[in-house]
Amino acid sequence: MSKIPKRLKAAATAVTAAALVAVPLTFLSSGASAAEAHVDNPYAGAIQYVNPTWSASVEASAGRTTDTALAAKMRAIKNQPTAVWMDRISAIAGNADGNGLKYHLDQALAQKQGSTPLVLNLVIYNLPGRDCYALASNGELPATDAGLARYKTEYIDPIAALLSDAKYQNIRISATIEPDSLPNLITNSSEAACQQSAPYYRAGVKYALDKLHAIPNVYTYIDAAHSGWLGWPSNAAPAAKLFADVARTTTAGLASVDGFVTNTANTTPLVEPFLTNPTLQVGGAQVKSAKFYEWNDDFDEIDWTAHLYSLLVAEGFPASTGMLVDTSRNGWGGSARPTAVSTSTDLNTYVNQSRVDKRVHRGAWCNPLGAGIGERPQATPSGYTSSHLDAFVWIKPPGESDGASKEIANDQGKAFDRMCDPTFVSPKLSNQLTGATPDAPLAGQWFDAQFKTLVQNAYPAITTGPTPTPTVTPTPTVTPTPTPTPTVTPTPTPTVTPTPTPSVTPTPTTPPVGSCAVKYTANSWNTGFTGSVRITNTSSSALSSWKLTFSFASGQQVTQGWSAVWSQSGSAVTATNAAWNGTLGANGSVDIGFNGSHTGTNTAPTAFALNGQACTVS
Ligand code: BGC
Repeated sequence: MSKIPKRLKAAATAVTAAALVAVPLTFLSSGASAAEAHVDNPYAGAIQYVNPTWSASVEASAGRTTDTALAAKMRAIKNQPTAVWMDRISAIAGNADGNGLKYHLDQALAQKQGSTPLVLNLVIYNLPGRDCYALASNGELPATDAGLARYKTEYIDPIAALLSDAKYQNIRISATIEPDSLPNLITNSSEAACQQSAPYYRAGVKYALDKLHAIPNVYTYIDAAHSGWLGWPSNAAPAAKLFADVARTTTAGLASVDGFVTNTANTTPLVEPFLTNPTLQVGGAQVKSAKFYEWNDDFDEIDWTAHLYSLLVAEGFPASTGMLVDTSRNGWGGSARPTAVSTSTDLNTYVNQSRVDKRVHRGAWCNPLGAGIGERPQATPSGYTSSHLDAFVWIKPPGESDGASKEIANDQGKAFDRMCDPTFVSPKLSNQLTGATPDAPLAGQWFDAQFKTLVQNAYPAITTGPTPTPTVTPTPTVTPTPTPTPTVTPTPTPTVTPTPTPSVTPTPTTPPVGSCAVKYTANSWNTGFTGSVRITNTSSSALSSWKLTFSFASGQQVTQGWSAVWSQSGSAVTATNAAWNGTLGANGSVDIGFNGSHTGTNTAPTAFALNGQACTVS
């Protein structure tokens, strides 16, 4: 992808003579005196700033877990770059939750390697009336004229002053501008709080753009929500228009915006690999008409960035406009990830079995269970030409909570949003349980349990060793023989990937009967729980299909299941293999799971049987 430079403005033109005089001689003699020009894509050829505070949180988490493999994975990502959030006025100087902006800028200088550019991702997040449609990240400034005045003088001005310091002129600052704010004005303008906030969001974003764009080494990216929020044409077009309208009110007009960032702090997948055609007919209807997509053509962030880009250019934004995608938590790996498209002819079953996004609903934004770390930060990712991507970035630092699962007193203005409560059946989610991770701390606080699952469910998976050892059980790559008991001894080769290859189908000819072992684990809270079941075929024959049955105690109900087709009749629960995981080799295992509700004490299910044969349970 080649893009034309949008501004070739020498940074020195913006530096006052007084500031130049004040620059120490040592600095000038370091060869950094000539600030670089503002470039099209700040990430190209650059490294990104690693926040030492986040790295320390990851290291602490690795130190706490007794699972050595998990700890190794955590350590393998601890030097990934994550954004620094200015989430209140005190964050500028530094507060109990972290170091101030000057600390990060100085650290960034220290991390800079010679003339290689370095990008520091900074989040501007303190508008008056912040988070008008939710409560978990309500802020400190009210949606009033006085709140806007404080936003300008006590928040944006001091940030701009620090970023203008000539000392930092060769650090590229990528500023994510006010997550969720303008998108809320598109979809939630019927809410009183959003109506109250609307003029302050527009005025605040204009002010931030004016101040930040004036600094040549600052790059502005306006938050553009995600595909499951703005993807519908009736939201997307007005959003592009609003972005253009607000940008036009700035001194530099549309040129004050370098690009847009999508999926900030959300978990919408980059790509739905098995759902690529929204108009495909399944069971007599288009895929996009399934309950999960609600007629929205944009299934993932690649769809949304491409769609948005074309609308923005039509609104007058330059062709050089670049897109960032926050991939910090949109991985959806782990055993629940489908490996092939469903073969069901029922549309909703087809979509639910095929999608990697395992949320109950695309509006479930708070600490969703099952999400994993996504693509690692990288510049100009290839393969998505229409999306005009500048980079994959980690804006939401993985491990930091989206909101508390219960009321927690605080002095930041944050309130309790029941979307973060796993026991809550939300009307915003078609009356389903939120699917939020239980026991969550306040938004922005370290959430160890969530960090563990994000690491476990990473996609691409996190690799730790230099090469997989040949002792890893490899997938048999031999063509199965038609004999009833295939005693295949797979030849270990170092190039074998330990994940099951969907193209390999050892066709067993034995009847689907065998003994089994089940490992059941549950994570329960007041009236909800998540059950994980590992099924192991302990017989000497492979199965070509399987059906697990078990009994619930009274009051237990499956509300959503994955990696199998789930049904329940009274207390009897049945999980039949999905289209892609029916083959279960001798000694092979498959992981399935469900969300459920319960009354009273949540006891483990009993009478597990696989294809009618009782299982041992651990
Ligand atoms: C919180 C901020 C926090 C950010 C990053 C937001 O949801 O409101 O306080 O800095 O997430 O974790």
